[in-house]
Amino acid sequence: PDVRACIAAGEVIDSPADCVKELVENSLDASAKRIEVEIVKGGKRYIRVKDDGTGIPPEDLPLVVLEGATSKIRRLEDLMHTTTYGFRGEALHAISKVSRMVISSRYFSEDVGREMRIEGGQVKEITQRGMGIGTQVEVFDLFYNLPVRQKFLKKEDTERNRITKLIKLYAMARPDVAFRLISEGKELLALPPAHHIAHRLQEIYNMPFETFERESNGVKVRLSVSVGNKTGEVFLVVNGRPVYNKNLLEYIRRHVGYRKVCLCEVEIPPFLLDVNVHPKKREVRFLKESLVKDLIKESVTRRVYLPYT
Ligand code: ADP
Ligand code: MG
Repeated sequence: PDVRACIAAGEVIDSPADCVKELVENSLDASAKRIEVEIVKGGKRYIRVKDDGTGIPPEDLPLVVLEGATSKIRRLEDLMHTTTYGFRGEALHAISKVSRMVISSRYFSEDVGREMRIEGGQVKEITQRGMGIGTQVEVFDLFYNLPVRQKFLKKEDTERNRITKLIKLYAMARPDVAFRLISEGKELLALPPAHHIAHRLQEIYNMPFETFERESNGVKVRLSVSVGNKTGEVFLVVNGRPVYNKNLLEYIRRHVGYRKVCLCEVEIPPFLLDVNVHPKKREVRFLKESLVKDLIKESVTRRVYLPYT
């Protein structure tokens, strides 16, 4: 096997959670409304991500695992626009290099689906398959050909917890999409589509949430804060993407309280963001951070309660 290519692929995908993230983002990019994730042994043995998205055109199916294969051409500057999560055509290629993979897909205008078997990056077989519209990606034995990487994977529980957290995070970013997580045959999460973010949060945390919103100069901030107290947790979603910003998260914590669960959603024109960091990292910087902070502070202190139906 091409060791260098394998190692490069292992750098793009370094854990089962990483793999799940890429597959879930692909499903969201394909306009899925229902995403099901199944894992065995924390994803080390098996990962399956199934969606009801647009599917892959049959003629494109063999191409999706090629290096740089993407149907989402756009400019780097658009990275933080609410268009697509992926754009580099790297993920499926990287995963296919370090696993045994089966991709099944039925394109929305086709009567039948196709199933493609890939091993170590090579397409082995494509056959017809009866299935609903959408795509299912199965990943067997991640890093089977990179024993060193495999050895350094975290414990099964740790990987499973990471994947659970990840699905919750995407579920917060996309309350309109149904998510399901199954581990060793047991259902860990079953989140129906929610019409309001507070409903989604309530499903995830089993407690009521209040939502406060402020808007100014084209920047919108929506805070959803748990009514009861719990071990504090704060999440940030910017333009529909889960992101990380240490400074802002701490600012939110300080204002809503350290024992609250809080989701802060920001909608902001992309030119006010600096995403000039490694595309894999969730780090984001705001060019007008003080404006965002003011909106957060105002929404907490004035508590403009938005009723919803
Ligand atoms: P990227 O997301 O950066 O385009 P990926 O390697 O993640 O690259 O995926 C390659 C291509 O495979 C995508 O551009 C898309 O055309 C197709 N694809 C992957 N997953 C799905 C899916 N779940 N539904 C439809 N198309 C998909
Ligand atoms: Mg992708």
